[in-house]
Amino acid sequence: MSQIIYPTTNLKKPSNLVIERGEGVYVYDNKGNKYLEAMAGLWCSSLGYNNKELIDACTDQMSKLSYSHMFGGKTHQVGIDLAEKLTSMVPMNNAKVFFGNSGSDANDTHIKLLRYYFNAIGKPQKYKIIARERSYHGVTIASASLTGLPVNHSNFDLPFEALGILRTDAPHYYRGALENESEIEFVDRITNNLEKLIIEEGPETIAAFIVEPITGASGVIVPPPGYYEKVQAILEKYDILFWCDEVITAFGRTGNDFGSNTMGIKSPDLMTLAKQLSSAYMPISASLISGDIYQALIEPSNKVGVFGHGYTYSGHPVACAVALKTLEIYQRDNMFDDAAVKGDYMQSKLQKLNAHPLVGEIRGKGMIAAVEMVANKKTGQAFPNGDIGHYAMAACQRLGMITRAIAGSSLAFCPPLIITTSQIDEMIFVLEK
Ligand code: PLP
Repeated sequence: MSQIIYPTTNLKKPSNLVIERGEGVYVYDNKGNKYLEAMAGLWCSSLGYNNKELIDACTDQMSKLSYSHMFGGKTHQVGIDLAEKLTSMVPMNNAKVFFGNSGSDANDTHIKLLRYYFNAIGKPQKYKIIARERSYHGVTIASASLTGLPVNHSNFDLPFEALGILRTDAPHYYRGALENESEIEFVDRITNNLEKLIIEEGPETIAAFIVEPITGASGVIVPPPGYYEKVQAILEKYDILFWCDEVITAFGRTGNDFGSNTMGIKSPDLMTLAKQLSSAYMPISASLISGDIYQALIEPSNKVGVFGHGYTYSGHPVACAVALKTLEIYQRDNMFDDAAVKGDYMQSKLQKLNAHPLVGEIRGKGMIAAVEMVANKKTGQAFPNGDIGHYAMAACQRLGMITRAIAGSSLAFCPPLIITTSQIDEMIFVLEK
């Protein structure tokens, strides 16, 4: 094949698809086959492929200043402009932003910021983080420990205990409800479990609770109504920070500017962004914290002499320029409103497949969805080896569409936000086949 160790791949069976170029919502392989990219790559290529404005933003910045670091507060205008625009968009109080390169390293940064913050305010014992089963937060040692998926844990000997990672229920009614349990009862039970966990561990030891407002890789789980309201009340009661990992759900994906707004979440204390931040034209991520948390970091950094955290590419000027242009395009073209309308269209079209004998559940909001396939529609019994997702993904690929098997039995849909309604029809047509 090649000398590459492929990421998230069965190394015995890597695919041999060689993607050569992209245009709009389509990509082409080295044999000239055309594919509708129904996953926007890995939930990221919001503005599709070969966007001239983004390419110009990138090459203009490369000609002007291809690299400069941000250590010691040395800065550049495009970084300042991006930070200003981004912090004005997020639903947070006086947000400040730290730039990184990927969602994983941004979540690592947050873990360190939390420790730094609670040390600074004299609560060093408050370091534990509650994450949910079946969540996805990345794959570095620390972010993989936040992640709640066995495939990302097996054989890696992750330091859950040392990092203080605690686990609570996934808010997935279809798979998690007890027999005859209503949605309201389900929400009551899992939020009671959360409160019990906090009390057992001691609230004074728990720093934060991390969620994807709507999950991605673990199956596009949309929590039932009332869930976040209850969660936020509990966190407030025990003085625990709320951390939204919006790496997938930000920037119009869920039918609003941010997934937190779609899900009625009030002003998170921390937020992680990446992917659609630059429409994936350049790698860049953002770890955002509220102004209150930031204020507490200043004095300790003065005592030590430095806030000792930063990547060579934190605030890379080319990545900043591309991200800034991406945000400008989103706003100029009203893309979040537009995505909301097309998202409703996509969801209603997908719902028509509900009657299919293989479909167990169709989940989603806006322009993100998953179709879970089952062996027995009535009982919800899964296929025995959980591999139906890969089978269906391969079938879609043969028919000219790239999708993604997630959580074993589901197919994910997360097309570029620029997709048209007739291209959504094309997506559904292939899926139906
Ligand atoms: N957080 C969420 C919610 C994600 O979906 C992902 C990636 O899919 C990550 C974090 C990790 O991002 P990256 O792959 O850029 O490290």
